[in-house]
Amino acid sequence: MASIRILSDRVANQIAAGEVIERPAAVVKELVENSLDAGATRIEVEFRAGGRAYIRVEDNGGGMTRDDALLSLERHATSKIAETADLDRLATFGFRGEALPSIASVARFELQTRALEEEAGTEILINGGKFVHVRDCGRPVGTRIVVSQLFNSVPARRKFLKSDATESAHIIHCVRLYALACPQAAFTLIEDGRAIFRSPECATTAERVAEIFGRQIAESLLAIEAADAGLQLRGLISRPGVGRATRHEMITYVNRRPVDSRTLSYALIESYHDSVAKGRYPLAFLFLDLDPAAVDVNVHPAKREVRFRNESQVRAFVIRTVLDRLRELAAAPAGGVAPAGAAPEGSGLRAAGLAPAPSVPASISPQETRMAAPFPAYRALPTPLAAPVAATPGATVSAPAAGHADASRARAGWRYVGLVHGVYALFETDAGLLLLDRRAAHERVWYERLRGQFAAARVATQRLLLPVPVELDAITSALLLDRLGFLNQHGFEIVEFGRNFFRVEGVPEWMDPADAEAFLRDLLGALREGLLAARDLDLARDELARLAALRAVRLPDGAGEAEMHSLVAQLFACRQPMTSPTGNPTYLELSYGELARRFQR
Ligand code: ADP
Ligand code: MG
Repeated sequence: MASIRILSDRVANQIAAGEVIERPAAVVKELVENSLDAGATRIEVEFRAGGRAYIRVEDNGGGMTRDDALLSLERHATSKIAETADLDRLATFGFRGEALPSIASVARFELQTRALEEEAGTEILINGGKFVHVRDCGRPVGTRIVVSQLFNSVPARRKFLKSDATESAHIIHCVRLYALACPQAAFTLIEDGRAIFRSPECATTAERVAEIFGRQIAESLLAIEAADAGLQLRGLISRPGVGRATRHEMITYVNRRPVDSRTLSYALIESYHDSVAKGRYPLAFLFLDLDPAAVDVNVHPAKREVRFRNESQVRAFVIRTVLDRLRELAAAPAGGVAPAGAAPEGSGLRAAGLAPAPSVPASISPQETRMAAPFPAYRALPTPLAAPVAATPGATVSAPAAGHADASRARAGWRYVGLVHGVYALFETDAGLLLLDRRAAHERVWYERLRGQFAAARVATQRLLLPVPVELDAITSALLLDRLGFLNQHGFEIVEFGRNFFRVEGVPEWMDPADAEAFLRDLLGALREGLLAARDLDLARDELARLAALRAVRLPDGAGEAEMHSLVAQLFACRQPMTSPTGNPTYLELSYGELARRFQR
């Protein structure tokens, strides 16, 4: 048997690197965390070939003196904690002093840094754990680290890497996470010379979400904020009915650190139990802040997991906060997009406690209807996916829908009063007042019409006079290629003509050709989110119809009484007239009883 010996630092670092640095995104994570810990307000990340060829992270933080820079590459060298008890006061991302020596042991590692108090910058080069040189260099205050030839010296690890596209997706996700956590710092992310995003400093998380994910998503989210017994929760969550196919968009942070917390994600899923369809997940950016002593971040090599000292308190707090917000929204759908606390436009409706259509809850027990908030009625609304229209192939709008005797009776007595705010059609009924959301109603009608056409494979194609060329990045292009057959069976004519290049030659008949490109972009977004999956044809058609319905609706300005009645008739011929395809109510009702109560008669 060989005798026992102490491993050299180089070998020890390579072993540690195996845990901390499992893939290129982990390098990016450690470097970005260091930049943020160094107080940077500007961070630039650049990478090539999924990060295995080249990663550069540059910041304008405090930088390091030459002595500190040399020390930072020693194992367990950290400026962030001095003793174990400091973990209970931790305000930084790093604390183990492992990242830099680990990275330097498995790559070519070039560090340039300058602290304010030093005239010259310091440059250190290490290759596969072997020191090459240290010398002066010119540079502004801050730090620049370039990591190249990652894992060249550890072929075993290199083999475990996935395709460049996958590694790149991990890096992009990682930088987004930190950009969201720290909106006050400006972030730039560059892949193979192309900017993935550039976000200036932002005042709020919502602004950052808009910068990174687009205005549309940002505006569709609800702000939440609450504090209780040392716990503070804030963030953005999706509206009821808007579900995602995967959990990847439930993003959670604890004390600014992005984490995978079962406690937090289950709390979220539970809160949305009645608000998204089964098997779908809400979209959320949740930030929980609490005393560092009440949470253990030191349970996972990459610190992705955390443990709360009081799991059940955290869980209950999150559920309560999210549910309160969803209830508040259910009580005032008209003001849904307003941030928490702010009085939305039309808050009169909220004050009036307009509840979603009470004709729905045939299934609700009297006991439930008596509950204080109008929310229970909302809960009972089956989301579109829960009651798939797919059941009858070939169903069209004109097909008689099951179980709507009630509904047609209800609408027989609707008297049109007028159009409110250009969007809501106001009706008077024997039972009270009724507001129909024209857009939501049209979307529902379109959705079911398209769904019927898809199921019956009766989608006519119109050929475009001018084919639309589209160039895509590698990931999106692969995704599109994968679903090309599906799209072309559903009214599109999209052909590949070269690497990452496509041409739209035909679109479904109902589509305005001018919308072709915009719709394709929606579609690609959905593909990237993992929707339209090949596994389930029905679900894929559902998604396609949902996306299409949102685009297909064009509201005529001068809508008259006849148009409104015809819309109502079409809506109630639908299988699910109560909600839009994205799960929003199509109409709200205020009974005379409720009116009288409000006027305190
Ligand atoms: P940790 O972050 O756990 O302390 P690291 O190995 O990541 O360990 O970094 C070691 C030390 O190097 C840090 O404690 C910090 O003092 C210094 N350092 C690393 N990156 C930077 C940076 N971008 N700017 C300033 N100092 C840095
Ligand atoms: Mg660190």
